[in-house]
Amino acid sequence: MHELSVCQALIIQVQEIAKQHDALAVKLIKLQIGPLSGVEASLLENAFPLASAGTVAENAVLYIDRLPVRVRCQQCGAETEAAANRLICGQCGDYHTQLISGDEMLLASVELTKES
Ligand SMILES: [Zn+2]
Repeated sequence: MHELSVCQALIIQVQEIAKQHDALAVKLIKLQIGPLSGVEASLLENAFPLASAGTVAENAVLYIDRLPVRVRCQQCGAETEAAANRLICGQCGDYHTQLISGDEMLLASVELTKES
C-alpha cells in the first residue's frame, strides 16, 4: 500500500495550502508523475478517495498528468524521450545517457473553493 501513504502525504500538503488560503474546500488537485517515480498513477487514483475522506480535499478531482521520460545523451548531446525501461538516446541509440526527467512526482496546482 505504498500509494496510500504517498496519497496521504499529498493530502497533508494540500490541506496546508487550503489552510494558508482560508479555503472551504479543494476543487482540483493536479499532479505530475513520471514513470520512474515509483508511483503508479492508477493506484494513486484508487487510493485518493480513501486518503481524502473527511478532509478538505474530500470532493476534489484528482488530475494526473503523466510525464514522459527524457534523457540527455553524453555522446551526441541530444535530449530525447526514452522508454522507462530503456534509457537510450533517441538520436544515436547510445546508452550513455543522463536522466533529465521522468522520476518526479510534483504537486502542479491546486484549485480551491473560497466562498460557499
Ligand atoms: Zn545520442
